Amino acid sequence: MRFTDFGLAPTLLQSIAAAGYHAPTPVQAQTLPPALQGSDLLVSSATGSGKTAAFLLPCLHRLIATGPQRRPRVLVLAPTRELAQQVGRAAQALAGRGGPRVAVLVGGAPYAVQLKALKGPVDLVVATPGRLMDHLQRGRLDLAGISTLVLDEADRMLDLGFAEDIEAIVARLPAGRQTLLFSATLDGVVGRLAERVTRAALRIEIARTPEAAPRIDQRLLFADGHEHKLRLLDHLLKDQTLKQAVVFTATKVGAEDLARRLQQQGHAAAPLHGDMGQGARNRALRALREGSARILVATDVAARGLDVPGLTHVINFDLPMQAEDYVHRIGRTGRAGRTGAAWTLAHHRERGKVRGIERYTGASIPVATLPGLEPKAVIPEQKAFAPSRRTPSAADRGRRPAGKPLAPSARERAPRHDMRHRQH
Ligand code: AMP
Repeated sequence: MRFTDFGLAPTLLQSIAAAGYHAPTPVQAQTLPPALQGSDLLVSSATGSGKTAAFLLPCLHRLIATGPQRRPRVLVLAPTRELAQQVGRAAQALAGRGGPRVAVLVGGAPYAVQLKALKGPVDLVVATPGRLMDHLQRGRLDLAGISTLVLDEADRMLDLGFAEDIEAIVARLPAGRQTLLFSATLDGVVGRLAERVTRAALRIEIARTPEAAPRIDQRLLFADGHEHKLRLLDHLLKDQTLKQAVVFTATKVGAEDLARRLQQQGHAAAPLHGDMGQGARNRALRALREGSARILVATDVAARGLDVPGLTHVINFDLPMQAEDYVHRIGRTGRAGRTGAAWTLAHHRERGKVRGIERYTGASIPVATLPGLEPKAVIPEQKAFAPSRRTPSAADRGRRPAGKPLAPSARERAPRHDMRHRQH
């Protein structure tokens, strides 16, 4: 299937070519035709699968086809500022010069700038639910013209406590609108939300085929304590294949301290966490995107939605609180068909948490050691997690880490399982 098969506006085809997209990804191929026909959709697909363009292209096509009007016609809700800004950037790039006009409304950014944007003509609004509610309550925004609503990462929005805001926003939209809901999972609370906000929705679940799964080489390094973790990190950061990395910490203070330590060691490192002002967060992200920062030391919330093509490595300096955050973290690398490496440092007593992650992803994380930096504590023999009876394919066995070859541990010699589940 080719992009020219969908009957998209010529300017969109130009933007697609300029973005270097040669062929639609599976989620795009399956979503574009029904979305262009106006169907409501429930789509579950992985992060990095091209889902943003899958919903933006039909929306932009419709905006171009109907020509400029006085009120916004597309509303995209996203869970975090970073994701909303990223969707906004993608929308602007695809819309092109002189195309549909995009406004991004996120918390932490000055109201004045957003109000100015809303005074001018706007076709597509990307917003976080909280800030959008602020604007609605102040009577700054008219949603009566919205013909398409997109809920991006709906599960995350519900996790972050936006259920009420979403319902309040939906109540102000025309009943005859189209609704496109994207989420890692379509069951449970997301399913119930979907029932309330969509009509006769088509369900699209993108199979996580090995080809579609991001090629992320995952390794687990056990550490005896904080100092040992720091030495492991120092070693990992010397890896020549590491072009840019996100190092995840459990706390904001941890991110600050570690970023400062790395800066003192001469690394081009920057922190990113929720206590930083929006300006500082934007600067850190820009530094990473432009390459002036090599390492971003971040907490989970701040790094959500981060999409920087140059990210070769994710390092979990601390384990995530939630197993699903592991998947989210490592999905920062290996995007759009590239390869990536994800290193997780864990204390021996965190073994249970590691198991939790493995259960969640349905795959074991191979344990590795770095020469000279092996943990002193004896790692008790542990049954490798076995999600299925699947025998690893030749391709699995042939897959090598992106980094230097490592001494394989006893567990690593056991059959490896791929990371191919629940990417979001
Ligand atoms: P997303 O899943 O929307 O976060 O997209 C992940 C990455 O894939 C982004 O960097 C997009 O620019 C890129 N991308 C989206 N569609 C395509 C495509 N058809 N071909 C190649 N890359 C794409």
